[in-house]
Amino acid sequence: MSEAEALEDDDVPTYPSEFHGWRGWVVEKGLLKSVNDKQIWTPGEPFEADCSLGKTHKRIPWPGCHCGLYSVKSLTKLRSNSYHNVGAFGKVAIWGEILESSDGYKSQFAYPLIIWVAHLDWRKVDALRGRYGVPVMLGNPYTMSEPKEDE
Ligand SMILES: [Zn+2]
Repeated sequence: MSEAEALEDDDVPTYPSEFHGWRGWVVEKGLLKSVNDKQIWTPGEPFEADCSLGKTHKRIPWPGCHCGLYSVKSLTKLRSNSYHNVGAFGKVAIWGEILESSDGYKSQFAYPLIIWVAHLDWRKVDALRGRYGVPVMLGNPYTMSEPKEDE
């Protein structure tokens, strides 16, 4: 996909889930990447977890294993884990197999719903905007307050 191509609304995955979580991403060449394993989140495609240990489970995430796409339940929690200042942060829709803990989720699938970029990294906004078919905005990860669900 070229830099100039933007996703049409039809290209953005629909999410059969009401669950939302918060995540941080590294941003490289206008693409979101997972912080720990640097896997690319391909625009227009649900991001699907595999087992980082290479195990074959009946389902992913598997209870007791580390696999699954991690997200937390609040921006406050994201800050306390220091995932708010890695490049971009935002809310994701999660679906498929979901394991819930008190702080967050491990899910089988995820896709960004809204992406914020810190003001210092404002140049990354143009690279990301249009890519994933979702809003990309500037936000202060340190002081921003938690947006309401319907915003
Ligand atoms: Zn696993």
